[in-house]
Amino acid sequence: MSNKDTATAIRFEAMDLPYAAGALAPAISEQTINYHYGKHYKGYVAKLNELAEGTPFASMTLEEVVRGSEGPVYNNAAQAWNHAFYFETLAPSSEAQHAPTGALLGAIERWFGSLDALKAQMTKACLSLFGSGWVWLAEDDTGRLCIISESNAGNPLRYGMKPLLCIDVWEHAYYIDYRNARADAVAALWPLIDWKVVGERYEKW
Ligand code: MN
Repeated sequence: MSNKDTATAIRFEAMDLPYAAGALAPAISEQTINYHYGKHYKGYVAKLNELAEGTPFASMTLEEVVRGSEGPVYNNAAQAWNHAFYFETLAPSSEAQHAPTGALLGAIERWFGSLDALKAQMTKACLSLFGSGWVWLAEDDTGRLCIISESNAGNPLRYGMKPLLCIDVWEHAYYIDYRNARADAVAALWPLIDWKVVGERYEKW
């Protein structure tokens, strides 16, 4: 997500997708990406620009808006932030690093026992979340890794936590490809998670 330093009509810019729209198929079809990235995500960014224009939010970074807004501004800012984070986490399965390494692997083993146990717990959280929302892997201020279930646009930055990974369980993320079968959609997502990206976040925060 890039933000310009001066307030303009287009204050917040949509991130570029780091792969072709069809590159995640068959797990996520080109049609799903065209709607999810092209319509839903870009729609949140456009709405945020509309709402922020002429307000103090127009001079903030996107992360500052997520931390410091409420209502429609918050909903659209968080959806913009969350989706950029989500799309950046994914890669074609032939290119994704399929397991964490280094410090992140150590932290996952410490707090969950194993990568498979983490995946099982996150999957369970995805299937238990009623309605639309996000399931996060995040680090709290004591260094503990936690799984956080959030309705709607919820983001753990609001609690001072450091997001590492998120799964979008809004139906728009999977309905074209999987209809109502959220379990199948989540199962198909894991091979697209690039743990290199997640590990870099863990080291950076
Ligand atoms: Mn979404």
